Amino acid sequence: MKREIFDSEHLAFRDTVRQFLTRHVLPHHASWEQAGMVERWVWKAAADQGLLGLQAEEQYGGGIDDFRFNMILDEEIARSGATGLTFGLQNDIVGPYLYSLATPEQKQRWLPGVCRGEAILAIAMSEPNAGSDLQGITTTAVRHGDHYVLNGAKTFISNGMLADLVIVVARTDRAAGARGISLLVVGRDMDGFERGRKLDKVGLKAMDTAELFFRDVRVPATNLLGAEGGGFGYLMANLPQERLNIAVSAVAASEAAYETTLQYSKDRTAFGQPIGRFQHSKFTLAEIATEVQIARVFVDRCVQLHVRGELTEVEAAMAKWWTTELHKKVVDACVQLHGGYGYMLEYPIAKAYLDTRVETIFGGTTEIMKEIIGRNLGL
Ligand SMILES: Cc1cc2nc3c(=O)[nH]c(=O)nc-3n(C[C@H](O)[C@H](O)[C@H](O)COP(=O)(O)OP(=O)(O)OC[C@H]3O[C@@H](n4cnc5c(N)ncnc54)[C@H](O)[C@@H]3O)c2cc1C
Repeated sequence: MKREIFDSEHLAFRDTVRQFLTRHVLPHHASWEQAGMVERWVWKAAADQGLLGLQAEEQYGGGIDDFRFNMILDEEIARSGATGLTFGLQNDIVGPYLYSLATPEQKQRWLPGVCRGEAILAIAMSEPNAGSDLQGITTTAVRHGDHYVLNGAKTFISNGMLADLVIVVARTDRAAGARGISLLVVGRDMDGFERGRKLDKVGLKAMDTAELFFRDVRVPATNLLGAEGGGFGYLMANLPQERLNIAVSAVAASEAAYETTLQYSKDRTAFGQPIGRFQHSKFTLAEIATEVQIARVFVDRCVQLHVRGELTEVEAAMAKWWTTELHKKVVDACVQLHGGYGYMLEYPIAKAYLDTRVETIFGGTTEIMKEIIGRNLGL
């Protein structure tokens, strides 16, 4: 089905992104996967092409307040197989906290670097003993005059090693439950902020995912983001866009897996005919084509609503769990259609098998998405 959510500016932007990925990313991606992180220069190169900090205000270097541009960047990265390149984390997931909550003084300090690709962002919510249950975090920030003293440990933090600015979710009032959680921006050089292990993941090898430790870190009170005690509400407000980012990528990557496998099914022969001609293969591909098309239409519609500020938390949760579960199913079926080659990492579908697995876990698990939807059913 023809997509109807883009105009000519979006199409031109897609061309820019494709050229950027072909020139600056794909030739280096394998070495980044080996190193377990991307090189910093690519962030600056992306910024030079206007790909970073899209939704920041124009005066700081952004000025593209239309999520369809973010979507195009996410889609092209997913389709290209440059997995683990976390521009979407910067643009769609962490950046928005700064755009919506930072004071003018904070914006002046942080956003120009974000838009120039010099300040790489991360958000540290999860802890060794609290992931889905965000209210269970134990990292504390205690106010002493003009600063907070931050103590705690975070884990699974994307960009953990590379990040220059980390939004840390901490408890500023132990007795206040969800209202006792705040967001503090921690700079890479603050005393007492230490990186732990760069974690060895199943897939998404180019993305660094790390443990972070905070030991008596003196964070200036001027680095509090939004109001003290407002953190949980800010997370709830921003997580739908994070989930939409994941859904957008899942659908684009499902399309890519389908297209690769369709071609493979035409080229590979067995018993004297292309394997795609066997009824079972044909039906499998027909099912994938149908489900991916349905996902595409739904996610395009979600993005349309999001651009208008109308996407609900429930709709974002629906998009996240359904498209990521679909992506896993699609990739698994595509591996099967590739036979033994589907198990060889030189084939993109084998890598997709490893990269895809986490999608139903991070950004809120499938079970938590169903909790959010279920909670709103009036049961
Ligand atoms: C590659 C990767 C990158 C990540 N990046 C970041 C990041 O940048 N920043 C960050 O803060 N975090 C990040 N995370 C953490 C991620 O968000 C959490 O792993 C996720 O939210 C799940 O939390 P958990 O791992 O503690 O699992 P748990 O919460 O312990 O869940 C374990 C299982 O129990 C289920 N479960 C839990 N509660 C319920 C419930 N109420 N009902 C039904 N089932 C339930 C879960 O669905 C899951 O199946 C990342 C994780 C990974 C793997």
